[in-house]
Amino acid sequence: MMTKISVNQVDFNGLFLTGDELLSNMDFGVQDSLVTLPEKVHYDLTATKVNGGVVVSGSLQMDLLCQCGRCLEKYSYNIRCDDFCHFYETGSNSEIDLTPELREDILMAFPQNFICSSDCKGLCIVCGGNKNIKSCRCGGLKVDNSCWSELDKLALGRKKKKK
Ligand SMILES: [Zn+2]
Ligand SMILES: [Zn+2]
Repeated sequence: MMTKISVNQVDFNGLFLTGDELLSNMDFGVQDSLVTLPEKVHYDLTATKVNGGVVVSGSLQMDLLCQCGRCLEKYSYNIRCDDFCHFYETGSNSEIDLTPELREDILMAFPQNFICSSDCKGLCIVCGGNKNIKSCRCGGLKVDNSCWSELDKLALGRKKKKK
């Protein structure tokens, strides 16, 4: 079911609309291995009759389940759009479909990167421990040199093969 308004239900006092729209109706187009999308976008909107059409305004929100790109922990992220506001010229239309604007505005509010918090310390490159949970003990230890020299030999070996 798409989010549609019957124009004849809308008057100058405003019609309050609250509900959910399925992402599967929106051709959402976000595919990121760090994000699990919810099923629905929630909306709280008011449709008001104006000269020549209908103005729909209000807020949208949805909860994402994300994986932090630094520490790999899962966290939830609430996307909010509080300035949903669109004018629909009604003309001879009896219905207004809000779905394209719901999609557009929630996508605009989509996070650019997935980090659990701006000061996430990430994982230790040596032991792989999560440095947000406890400071890692291996930080003070020097990496065993013999291990690196073995790696160097391997790398040299590879270069020779290429030639
Ligand atoms: Zn993190
Ligand atoms: Zn460590």
